[in-house]
Amino acid sequence: MQQVPLGSTGLTVSELGFGAIPIIHLTPDAAHRVLRRAHDRGITLYDTANAYADSEEKIGRAFEGIRHEVVLATKTLRRDAKGVEEHLGRSLRLLRTDHVDLYQLHQVAQESAWEAITAPGGALEAAVRAVERGQVRHLGVTSHSLPMAVKLVETDLFATIQFPFNFIEDGAKDRLHAAARERGMGILAMKPFAGGVIDDAGVAFRFLRQHPGVIPIPGFDTVERVDQVVSFYDRPNVCTDGDLRRMDDYRAELGKRFCRRCEYCQPCPNGVMITMAMGYPVVVARMGPAVARTFCGAAMESVPQCTECGECLPRCPYELPIPEMLRSHREAYLRDLAPPSMPAEG
Ligand code: SF4
Ligand code: SF4
Repeated sequence: MQQVPLGSTGLTVSELGFGAIPIIHLTPDAAHRVLRRAHDRGITLYDTANAYADSEEKIGRAFEGIRHEVVLATKTLRRDAKGVEEHLGRSLRLLRTDHVDLYQLHQVAQESAWEAITAPGGALEAAVRAVERGQVRHLGVTSHSLPMAVKLVETDLFATIQFPFNFIEDGAKDRLHAAARERGMGILAMKPFAGGVIDDAGVAFRFLRQHPGVIPIPGFDTVERVDQVVSFYDRPNVCTDGDLRRMDDYRAELGKRFCRRCEYCQPCPNGVMITMAMGYPVVVARMGPAVARTFCGAAMESVPQCTECGECLPRCPYELPIPEMLRSHREAYLRDLAPPSMPAEG
């Protein structure tokens, strides 16, 4: 695994990072095995968050004694200084370290969040103090909103930007990546599989490797998956005409209006299982209506509870028209439920 500079931070990291959401679902021992396998295969950048349940604790346990061999990145969703101090203290304790290499303000998508962060007594004050104290080496930021991400980069306050990037959601490659590069910022790519809708890992990574300096941070939950993804980096990257056709097929199938399953729209005050219901067409396309019925049935049955109150709309970083899409997915679901009509006799 090649080691590359993380922008102009002075940190050197593997060209492939480790996203630590999926280890939440593993036992401590299983998480330990996956993390140590990734380390053994040359992955040195580990990205977690205060919000990812016990992920920080599992990372802290896995790398105790070899802390100096890994670069640890974590995040906080708190927008106030006191909250950041609490979160950072917890992260340091769980990660079993006296400093994190990269501390990111997590999911800054709305203007209101940015205003709170930069207000007197806001998150930024505490984050800057943590850098001065040496508890944090560098500050970064993450976002799902492209205009907001560009604005955050242009503040010149951060050493890294983390934003979704894959061959379906490639909007970052022009203005955002260019603005970050101009400033010597590190670029981290979340959602290399577009939130799980790209199921061909080879194509996903052959696309990503065409963008050197953009460091993908896929989630891993098995040693086999670590071995598979690392193997894509063992050889020179060749993106074939077949790969390009496959990417076009995915794009055509998914269109622009698809849900990335980020869950930021939840919870619905009326109990609609938004994320699962929003994913219905993708499940049908991948697994057929019969499996989709079982898999998404409860969610599709919750859709009529939607009163179109609109509460979920500003929470969706992709600005999806959620109630309208839910209605249309429900109609498709009802059509899929209907028994096939018998041919007329005679
Ligand atoms: S618009 Fe519908 S799905 Fe969205 S929060 Fe309101 S009731 Fe729930
Ligand atoms: S509807 Fe929007 S916010 Fe909700 S899960 Fe999908 S992409 Fe995320």
